[in-house]
Amino acid sequence: MESASCNIPIDINFTVPSRVSLKKKPDATIVNVNGIKVGGSEVVVIAGPCAVESQEQLFQTARAVKESGACILRGGAFKPRSSPYSFQGLGEEGLRLLGKFRKEAGMPVVTEVMDTRQVGLVAEYADMIQIGSRNMQNFPLLKEAGMCRKPVLLKRGMMSTIEEFLLAAEYVLNQGNQQVILCERGIRTFEPSTRNTLDLSAVPMLKHLTHLPVIVDPSHGCGLRWMVPSLAKAAVAVGADGLIIEVHYHPDKALCDGHQSLSLDEFALLMTDLKKISHAIGRKISIPEPSIG
Ligand code: PEP
Ligand code: MN
Repeated sequence: MESASCNIPIDINFTVPSRVSLKKKPDATIVNVNGIKVGGSEVVVIAGPCAVESQEQLFQTARAVKESGACILRGGAFKPRSSPYSFQGLGEEGLRLLGKFRKEAGMPVVTEVMDTRQVGLVAEYADMIQIGSRNMQNFPLLKEAGMCRKPVLLKRGMMSTIEEFLLAAEYVLNQGNQQVILCERGIRTFEPSTRNTLDLSAVPMLKHLTHLPVIVDPSHGCGLRWMVPSLAKAAVAVGADGLIIEVHYHPDKALCDGHQSLSLDEFALLMTDLKKISHAIGRKISIPEPSIG
């Protein structure tokens, strides 16, 4: 029997956009977030609260995650909330607090931008700008982010295919900005017991198709605090270049996503386990070092 006559696809059934394609650029892209390199041999952990709520909440959480080994601080100042009545974030005041910690601790920060009009402002404070799941196909925002010359953390749309995800990244690269990190954060499926279904198969698939670094967000991926450590470990085992994890100094009092946020102790414990998993697969967890003067 001639195998060429068989129509079963042996690989994917779409064309990988050229700028993100691993075939076109066979060396892995290293994204440099103010000195922290994502996409190389080391696994980078980004951690912090879902939203910036106050100086006390941000600083106490941030100091603890840094102490436990997180290299980049996360924290939303502009929050995309399903309900208009939920806490929307502190806005520019949140950015100022992130900027203050960033300077004091020498720790790079990532924060979300939701609107083209705010890209410039957010880029003044952040070392990397996040485009959230709900905005993955906001094409003007992707273009604006591509023009701002800061690394971009692009989260997979909750209803998006791998092809759509790569096409969204291509929009950013098309503006001349290659510094893009892809983040798998769970997709919507028929399964209601978890907030989303974390598609861990997206990690090897993306690594197979693109030279861009791939990280995983286990917090939004399941929406359940107790499950986050298992998924974080699995993500590293499956080849993720990093993780972004929600941590809060008092998860039960959090104004946003407390149910999926680790406590400071839970995060510290997870970091020790992640070191072991990384070691087992021949990688290392990146160690934080002051990078910002
Ligand atoms: C977040 O990181 O807090 C967030 C809103 O993520 P996502 O866009 O993946 O829902
Ligand atoms: Mn969140």
